[in-house]
Parts: sequence; C-alpha cells; structure tokens
Amino acid sequence: MNPLESKRHTLAHLLAAAVTERYPNAKTTIGPAIDNGFYYDFDFSGGEKPGPDELVNLEKTMRELLTSWNEMTYIEVSEKDARDRFKENPFKQELIDEIVKSGEPITLYTAGGFTDLCRGGHAKNPSRDIARDSFSLERIAGAYWKGDETKPMLTRIYGIAFDTRKDLAIYRAQIAEAKKRDHRKLGKQLDLFTFSELVGSGLPLWTPKGATMRQELDNYVWELREKYGYQRVAIPHITKKELYEKSGHWQKFADELFRITTREGKEYALKPMNCPHHTQIFDRKPHSYKEMPQRYAETTMVYRDEQSGELGGLTRVLSITQDDSHVFCRHSQVKDEFFNIWDIVDNFYGTFGFKLRVRLSFHNPETPEKYLGTPEIWKNAEDALRDIAKERDADYFEAPGEAAMYGPKLDFMATDSLGREHQVATIQLDMNMPERFDLTCINEQGEKERIVMIHCAIMGSIERFSAVMLEHTNGNLPTWVAPVQVRILPISEKHAGYAKKVSSALADSRVRTEIDDADESLGKKIRKAKMEKTPYVLVVGDKEADDNTVSAESRDEGKLGAIKVEEFVAKIVSEIKLRT
Ligand SMILES: [Zn+2]
Ligand SMILES: [Zn+2]
Repeated sequence: MNPLESKRHTLAHLLAAAVTERYPNAKTTIGPAIDNGFYYDFDFSGGEKPGPDELVNLEKTMRELLTSWNEMTYIEVSEKDARDRFKENPFKQELIDEIVKSGEPITLYTAGGFTDLCRGGHAKNPSRDIARDSFSLERIAGAYWKGDETKPMLTRIYGIAFDTRKDLAIYRAQIAEAKKRDHRKLGKQLDLFTFSELVGSGLPLWTPKGATMRQELDNYVWELREKYGYQRVAIPHITKKELYEKSGHWQKFADELFRITTREGKEYALKPMNCPHHTQIFDRKPHSYKEMPQRYAETTMVYRDEQSGELGGLTRVLSITQDDSHVFCRHSQVKDEFFNIWDIVDNFYGTFGFKLRVRLSFHNPETPEKYLGTPEIWKNAEDALRDIAKERDADYFEAPGEAAMYGPKLDFMATDSLGREHQVATIQLDMNMPERFDLTCINEQGEKERIVMIHCAIMGSIERFSAVMLEHTNGNLPTWVAPVQVRILPISEKHAGYAKKVSSALADSRVRTEIDDADESLGKKIRKAKMEKTPYVLVVGDKEADDNTVSAESRDEGKLGAIKVEEFVAKIVSEIKLRT
C-alpha cells in the first residue's frame, strides 16, 4: 500500500469510529481505500440512520477524534476472542469465517479506543500523518453486503481524501470540469448518439454524425493495422450453445449471456465475444507453418446482459462495438506480434495526445477456480508478457487477479487531459482456447503443433473510447474525426450558389461539409456552429464570391480571414491526412 492509500484506509477506520460514536446501534462491516478516498459500509437497521445533512457533523467528529489517534496498535487474537468481541455483529462473523478459512492470522487494530477487524496498512501516526483539512465526506449510498443483491442492503458513506488541502481542491476542480465535459451532455450537443425508451437503456443509437465519427475512428485503426497483415473476417451475431460450451463461455459468462430459444427448442446465444467464432474460421482447414500467423480482425458488436442499475451513457452498455482482432500464431511468434500490436496502440493513442501506462493483468493463484488452464500454462504466459514489457522499456506494473479467465492481459491505461486514467486497449495472450478447440499448425517436421491466440482490441469498445475521447477533447474533436469538418454560412440567399460551389470543391477532396442556409442571422448561425464545435466555419458573401475566397474561422486557431478556396482546401486536406 502506498502512503496515500494507507491514509485513506486509516480514514475509513476513523469514519467507522465517528459513526459508532454518534450512532451506537450502527454495525460496522468493511471499509476500504478507493481511487479518490475511502468508504465504509454500515448496517443501521438497529436504530437511527444518518441523512446527507449529517455528513458535516460526522466529519467534525472525525476531526475531533483524529487529534487523539497517535498510533494504531494491533494484536493477533484467537478465533474465539474475535468472535466474542464482535458477537453482536453477523457481518464481522462472516468476515471471521473467511479469515479462518484462508488460514491467515486474525488481527485487530485499535486507535483512540476504536477497534476494528483488519489486515493492516495504516498511517503510522494518524494525527501527525493525516492533514485535518485533506479529507471530506461526500455522499451516502446504498450497497448490498458483499455486492450481492440477495444479501442485506447496507449504508455506504463515501469520503474523498488526498495528501493536502491543495490536492483536495485540485481534485474538486477536476470533478467540476469533468461534469461540464460529461460525454452524455457533449453527445447531445454534438448530436452523436441518442437513447430510446422503446429500444431500452444501455442500447445507444448512433445518429448520422455519430456513425461518421465511429467510422473514422475505425478506419484509422484499420489503416494502422494494414502493414501488419491483418485480414477482415465477418461472423453472425448468434451461435449455438455448443460453441460456448466448448469455449467455456456458457459456464463462465452464465449471467451475462443473452440467450435465445428457437421455436424448435434449440438454444442459441448472442455473442458476448468474438473469439470462439473466429477459432472456427481458423480451423476451417489445416495451416502450414508458412501461413502462420493468421491475423483476423473485425469491428462488430457483442452483447452482455449488465444489470440495468449499472447502465449510464456510453461507458456501460449492453451492445458493445469491439474493434476486435485475433492473431493465431506459434509460440515463437508471440513476441513479434505483441510488439506490432503495441506499435499500433502507441500510434493510435499518441494521435489523441493520451499518455499510456501498462498494467500486466495476471491471475490470482489463490483462486484457480476462476480460470481455465493449468498453473504451468499461466506461468509461461505471464513470464512471456513480463519479458516483452521489460524489453520494450515500458511504464508498467503488475496486477494479480486482473487477468481474463483464459489468459493474462496487457492493459493500457490512458491519462486524459483532466489527469484521469482510463483503461483502454488490451492485448491478451491465450493458451487455453487453442487447447479447447484443438487449434494447430503443421510444423517444419510435418507434425501438428499447438498454437496460441492473441486477442486485441485497439479502442477496446468504440462506445467507451468515444466517451473517453469526447471528455478528453471537451468535444473539440480533431478535424479528421469531426463528423462535420466545415460549415459554410452564406450571408444571404443570393450567395447560396457560391456556397454550393465551395462545398463541392471541398467534397471533391472528401472534406465533410454542411451549408447552413436557415433563415437566421449570421451571428446566430456562427454561435450554433461554435456550440457544435465545428472545426471550421466559412462565411461567404459578395466579396468572397467575386474573389473566389472564403472568410474562414478555425475553432482552434481563431479567425483566419479571407483565403482562396484552393488554399483552404489544401490546408484542411493536409490537416486531415496528417491527423494533426
Ligand atoms: Zn485497517
Ligand atoms: Zn477474443
């Protein structure tokens, strides 16, 4: 645990101490550190429960208690002692069950007279290490015990915490800015996507402008992939149950699968991923080692049944568009393929100005039942990924427990213009699916050789990437992505002909334009173009028509003044081509 995490974890204890002081009937449960602070879940069913207005008072009590928290002492206790101490608390009893089962020692931590069951990881001297004004309580929410909806509903109190008051203020300012930049708001403002109650939540509908934006992003990924030998494939969106039984998805994705029963009583499912289908394309015929690797790519939707409470905007959806690819290759080719994909990822995210960090998502050896494949397969795969990251001299860290069920992953984390980190592309090494589907190539000796698969989506999901990109750019989409790149505003009706001429000159060079010939004032039209964050606005009237020019204003560079039409075309074409 880093020092800030330890402080946040300590503050969770402090919150529990303040709550139990003010609400003696409250039962404590768990309280971890999180990304921006901490939370603690309480059971208030035995008495009075605090409302949002009470947070201020709880915060005050926390500050008062903090002054006497000079150290956190711990003792190891027997199971019986632990059970006696929390005999009124069924939640702690459950936690004790788990600790006993894991064989770990049971430890209790105490500060200022408040004791909690805990594994440790605290500030050494809370009153000295934690600044009084570096934290605050934010909100109250409901949360099921263990995140399980069949279990009791608890009350979760969230706090935010940073090292200093200044860091806390910076964080608040970022949150305020992020709210302004919410992709749901920008999506409406730029007319990119919409939702319909009839279609259902979590199922975004892309407008003509939104579809253009998606296509541009996807084209770019294809362009980057071109030199590495990727080929297009296409598959149906449903499959018989048997494919997923063989791949293991029927069991592992059980709750998230959209199932279909046909009128003949056959069981089908909507695909939650594309890999099983793609294996069947690879397996249509034997492959000589000379034909390896086979690189299949396809941009297509997958479907996952998420709980409706978790849906919101484009970040959690039921229909997910993946720019998916599967490389079928020999063990000896894994490194080169990873390097190539990594190059594509670097190029793609670099174009948008994201900074990347890499997470090596490994399996958790303590829960082998969550994964397919033997410990030996996992070790080989993880060692290979670590070697690649080292060789590439990447900014990386290891995360046990974050792997996919069929293999370790290399997850790219992008830092956006607000300093927030998002998980974006992933590259996954898979030694399990080729086993399950018995995928091989014929090697130099004429024998069958087991191959491996590499799964990779550059954008991950187009929905999620679009959300991240919109917030990162505040809707100021780079010209090459913008659905409308140029808006042409004729000053009056009699300039409509010239506006059309300018528009076709641009269209001939594949620049996307729109003529705004509404019966509105020029000022209003300019404001509208700015609202929609159109990269270029061209005003045309008598003077422009006579001189074969346009009066151009750039969203990013300001007023450009009068420019010859050919000159403007050349400028924007080069900007689009270079993706600057
Ligand atoms: Zn603790
Ligand atoms: Zn896959």
